[in-house]
Amino acid sequence: MKDWSPESITAQALGWIDETTRAITPPIHVSSTYLRDADNQYRTGRVYARDQNPAFDQAEAVINALEGGHQTLLFASGMAAATAVFQALAPGDHVLAPKVMYWSLRNWLLTFAVPWGLDVELIDMTSPAAVQAALRPGKTKLVWVETPANPLWTVPDLAATARLAHDAGALLAVDSTVPTPVLTQPLALGADIVMHAATKYLNGHSDLIAGVLSTRADNEHWQRVRKVRAQIGGTLGSFEAWLLLRGMRTLHLRVRAACASAQRFAEHFDGHALVAGVLYPGLPQCHGHEIAKRQMQGGFGGMLSIRVKANAQGGEAAAIAVAASTKLWKRATSLGGTESLIEHRASVEGAGTPAPPDLLRLSLGIEHVDDLIADMEQALAAAHA
Ligand SMILES: *Cc1c(COP(=O)(O)O)cnc(C)c1O
Repeated sequence: MKDWSPESITAQALGWIDETTRAITPPIHVSSTYLRDADNQYRTGRVYARDQNPAFDQAEAVINALEGGHQTLLFASGMAAATAVFQALAPGDHVLAPKVMYWSLRNWLLTFAVPWGLDVELIDMTSPAAVQAALRPGKTKLVWVETPANPLWTVPDLAATARLAHDAGALLAVDSTVPTPVLTQPLALGADIVMHAATKYLNGHSDLIAGVLSTRADNEHWQRVRKVRAQIGGTLGSFEAWLLLRGMRTLHLRVRAACASAQRFAEHFDGHALVAGVLYPGLPQCHGHEIAKRQMQGGFGGMLSIRVKANAQGGEAAAIAVAASTKLWKRATSLGGTESLIEHRASVEGAGTPAPPDLLRLSLGIEHVDDLIADMEQALAAAHA
C-alpha cells in the first residue's frame, strides 16, 4: 500500500473493501452509539459517534496518506477545523496570522479569539523578515499561514516560515485548501499541521461542508486539538464523510484539469485590453511565482483573480457588471467544485478587505476552458459596452 502513488490511493480510497459484504465502496455508518461488552469493556474502542464514528476512518486515512501525516481528523467544516487549532491554545499565547487570508477565519480571530485572550498579530506572511521580526521566542505558540492566500494569491515560503517558527519554539499550521495535497505537501516542508476546507477541492462537487486537519507528529497541542473536536463536537455527519470519500476518488483528475485551465485562462487575459491585471502564481510576474515553482508540483492551482479595467462608472461597477454578464460562470462564493465560480470579493468581505474594488475572484472548474474564456470575453465586452 505504501508504494501506491497518490493517484492510486485516491482512485481506490486506499483499496479498502467492506469485509462483511465484500463491497467495493463502504457502507454509511449512522449509529450514534456502540454496544458495550458484557464484561463492561469497549473492545472496539468505539463508545460514542461524536468522536469515534467509523464513517470517518477511510476518508481520514486517505487524506493522511496524501499529506504524509501522523494522524488526520475530519471536522464539520473548514472553519471548525481551523478554529480547533486556535482553541487548543491558551489565553495569553501569541499567534501570528497573515493580513491576507480567508476572510471568515480572519474575522473569527478578531471577533472571538482576541476577546478570549489570544494575542493575535496580523503580519505580511510573504516576508520572512516580517515573520522573523514578529516572532517572540517562548511567547509565540503558533504561526498560521495560507497558501496561495485568498484573494490575491500571494505565496508564503512554507519551508522558510517553518524554520523561523520552529527556531522561536512555535508551531506552523498551513491552510492548504487551494493547492490540495495534489500540488503541495506542507508537512514535508516542515509544517506541523495542515488544514483543508474539504468543502472545496477535496470533495469537489459543491455538495457538502467539511474540514480536516493532519498533523506531522503527536504532541501536547495535537492532543488538545483532539479534545476540542471530541468535547466541543464540531464533527462531520456520516453521510458527508461518505460523500467526501467518493468525491476524493477523482481529486487528481479535477485538480489537474482546474490547474491547466487556470494557467491557460490567466495567460489569455494577462495583458487583455479590458483587464487591469491577472493575479495568479502561475504567471512569472506574479508575487510568489518563484516560491510557488518550488512549493507546488504539477500546477499553480485552480484559483485566480482578475482586476477589471474601469468603465464609465469605475472599476468596481465594471467588475460587478462583468459578474452580472457571465452565463457559464456561476455567481457564487466558494471554490474547488466542478463548476466555475465568479465573485466580486470586496462585496463579500466588506470594510477592511485587502481585495481591491475592481477584483473578481475566479474558481476554475472542469468545463472546457475555451467556453470559460469565451464567456469571460463576452462579459468583459458587455460591461464595457
Ligand atoms: C472555504 C475556506 C475555508 C473555510 O471552510 P468552510 O468549510 O467553509 O468552513 C477556510 N479556508 C479557505 C482557504 C477556504 O477557501
